Formats: sequence, structure tokens, C-alpha cells
Amino acid sequence: MNTVSLSPSAADPTDPDDPNRSWRHVLGRIADCARSVDRAPGDVTLVAVSKQQPWAAVAPILEAGQRVFGENRVQEAQARWSAQRAGPLGADLELRLIGPLQTNKAADAVAFFDVIETLDRDKLARAIADTVQTLGRSPRLYVQVNTGEEPQKAGIAPADADAFIARLRREFGFEPEGLMCIPPVGEAAGPHFALLAKIAARNGLARLSMGMSGDFETAIRFGATSVRVGSAVFGARA
Ligand SMILES: *Cc1c(COP(=O)(O)O)cnc(C)c1O
Repeated sequence: MNTVSLSPSAADPTDPDDPNRSWRHVLGRIADCARSVDRAPGDVTLVAVSKQQPWAAVAPILEAGQRVFGENRVQEAQARWSAQRAGPLGADLELRLIGPLQTNKAADAVAFFDVIETLDRDKLARAIADTVQTLGRSPRLYVQVNTGEEPQKAGIAPADADAFIARLRREFGFEPEGLMCIPPVGEAAGPHFALLAKIAARNGLARLSMGMSGDFETAIRFGATSVRVGSAVFGARA
């Protein structure tokens, strides 16, 4: 994809005292960027990353209509969101696990999350499959790809992704919804987003979870269908 200049609004800072305003601003940037590459604004879902944010920052945008939230720890998410789940907005909430998942927490994650974005190994697939069987409930799944092949980062290596996706389908009966990646810090994100899009296309996967506060517009240009934005909405994490 060709480069497109950043919209002037991209320079507009987050307002930590008014998450509602920051949230609207991010939604506006997502819509502007989508239109600039002839995509419908509705094609891109904002996953508001509420991890490590005070509830005082999260509540206003929940009230204003945001329904999709990302958390990176199972227990923190349960502590924060269980009461909301049981409340009047609960039915509309969509909670996504975007952090690495330990096999011994897989059962809790399957029971709690609507979407798990960090499936990256057979052992975890097995643990998820076992719980899905027991609970009769299956979260939507994304395969995390370690596009930068960083040793410390979760995700399947790009060269192993096709075979892993094939095994998920054949051996576990999973149909992943899409792919997810977190590009290396300090590198241009575009090539990583392009690689993720290419792996998705050749495996028949339509959804791409990519792009964070610093690069979500780039991700949209490369085909992101959801962007995971935390600090640009809520301000810096504690
Ligand atoms: C924390 C986190 C985000 C959000 O990061 P921001 O830079 O605050 O937007 C997105 N994705 C993942 C996987 C994260 O852990």
C-alpha cells in the first residue's frame, strides 16, 4: 500500500482529564483513516485497552457507548469486569484477552473472555480445546504471530504460522477468526502489518488485529479490522 500522509488531527494530544473526549477523538481518527483508504469506518473495531487503567478512566467511555475492551491479564480482567458482566450493559460487552496466556490459566480465560487473541502454540490450543469441550462455550480465537521473531515475545514464528493454522483446523476443530501481531518497538510497523496481512490472506483469514496508540492509522492502511488502543484513549498507564 502507498503511504498516505497523517491527518492533521493525529497530532492532537490525548486529554487525560477527559477520556470521553480522547475516545471520540480516536474514533474520529479511525473513521478518517478508513475513509482515506476507501474503507468503511465500520470495518475497523476499536478495542479500548483498559489494562492498568483506573476505573474512573474506563467508566466514562463505557457509559458513552464503547463496548469492546482489551485486557492482558486474566485475573485483572475478572476483577474489573465481572460486576459489569452481571450488570445492565453486560450482554453487549465484548472482552478480549490480548496478553500472553499461560496454559494453566486457559480454562479461566475460556470461561471469561469473548475473544482470545493470543493463541500461539499447540499446548495452549489443547488446553483451550479441553475447556471448550467441558464448558460447551468457545471464545473467538486469533493466532498471535511474532512477526519480528523476537525471542522474548509471544506468538508463533511467521514460518510456522501456516502449519499451525492448519493444525488448529484439523486437530482441534478451531476456525480462527484472524491474526494478531505486536511489531517490535522501535521498528517501522508497516512491514510487520504487511506480513501479517499476507499470512492471513494465504490462510483464508479475514480479520487482522493490529495497531496500537502509536501506529493504528498505519495498521488501518494495511488492512487492520481491529485496532488495540490504550493510552491514546485513557492516557498513560499507571
Ligand atoms: C498494552 C497493549 C496495547 C495498547 O497499547 P497503547 O500503546 O497504550 O495503545 C495494545 N496491544 C497489546 C497487546 C497491549 O499489550
